[in-house]
Amino acid sequence: MQSRHAISTVEDYEPFIGQQAVERILAKGRKLSGRSIAHVNSTYFGGGVAEILSSLTLLMRALGLDAEWRAIQGPPDFFSITKKMHNALQGEPIRLTDIKKEIYEDIAFQNAIRNRFDHDYVVVHDPQPLPLVEFSRKRGPWIWRCHVDMAHPSRDIWEYLAGYIEQYDAMIVSAEEYRQPWRLPQRVFQPAIDPFSIINRELPEGEVDRRLRHYGVPLDLPLVVQVSRFDRWKDPHGVIRAFQIARRVKDCTLVLVGNVATDDPEGPAVYESLLREKEERVLILSGEDTSFVNALQRRAAVVLQKSLREGFGLTVAEAMWKRTPVIGGNVGGIRYQIEDGVNGFLVSSVEETADRLVRLLSDEQLRRRMGEAARETVRQRFLMTRYLEQYLDLMDGFET
Ligand code: UDP
Repeated sequence: MQSRHAISTVEDYEPFIGQQAVERILAKGRKLSGRSIAHVNSTYFGGGVAEILSSLTLLMRALGLDAEWRAIQGPPDFFSITKKMHNALQGEPIRLTDIKKEIYEDIAFQNAIRNRFDHDYVVVHDPQPLPLVEFSRKRGPWIWRCHVDMAHPSRDIWEYLAGYIEQYDAMIVSAEEYRQPWRLPQRVFQPAIDPFSIINRELPEGEVDRRLRHYGVPLDLPLVVQVSRFDRWKDPHGVIRAFQIARRVKDCTLVLVGNVATDDPEGPAVYESLLREKEERVLILSGEDTSFVNALQRRAAVVLQKSLREGFGLTVAEAMWKRTPVIGGNVGGIRYQIEDGVNGFLVSSVEETADRLVRLLSDEQLRRRMGEAARETVRQRFLMTRYLEQYLDLMDGFET
């Protein structure tokens, strides 16, 4: 029986990247065919890393690599500590007591015992599974891939994590300024999106309408949308304030869609604080249905990503791919995704956000022009094949 299930292949990207690029990537893949690679992170659901790994590992498999994805397990107190580390990497002070270090290290040790990481390459994502390197027998290169905005990290956290990081053979960060003054080789890979995933694939207008109606989204006024994990770094309260100011000039509906990643214990409190806002024309909805996220990003007049820190905003690239203009926080990786005034706007305050919102909502031509430029930016720079190729080059560069 023929299966109707299929995974995307590099060849599927041909309409977007051209035949030459497809052949170049296939040739690089042939060279590494059969090599084993494990990606290790801390959640199978919620957040950009899980989203990337679900596509990247399949694309690697389609290319003939023996690619695996493992998520480490841990109790809530472990994830509470690792979230504090994440916040410290983004600049917040941290008090790392001995007991916190002990829990962090113990859980990593248990995961190293529970799993065998005997792959030709191991890629460890973010701080949660970082100490695995100390407790595993390395068979090939280990790479630490940090997705966090590390433009202004707290020094205390570096001093502690450096002991682990220095055991890696390479480190990947998402922007030039996240490089650290260590001797291990560091590469800059910006993340990318999968145009065939449920979040990004084409949706007929009728389906978009159905999804939005199903969740009770009113369609009488233009939609302003932010899709984000419930996380204070995404500044959802700032989004509501900007919306309130903009609405006085140009009426619209705000839809804040969010979810909680299993490795982020701060999410529920942020969600509850939003429910207390009770603002007219503001909807706060769950974004666990990714075709709903897709529909919203397509139908929105404007997408916001008003982050205060952002390693790289997948949601920014997702909306841009759908030709929707994005107003993004002028921070971290977003500054490399949006060229201010060309394919979107970069903002540094609530007032600026409100001002750009009014400009976009009042000018359909501008929305269309920015949306087209945004689509082209993603086509050229932020599709998964580019990211895949960077990994292939990195793997090939190691002598194994
Ligand atoms: N996302 C989702 N539903 C939500 C919130 C987010 O499906 O309610 C998806 C979003 O579309 C994107 C990813 O989760 O694919 C978030 O990645 P991003 O890089 O924007 O932020 P992170 O959560 O990694 O900080």
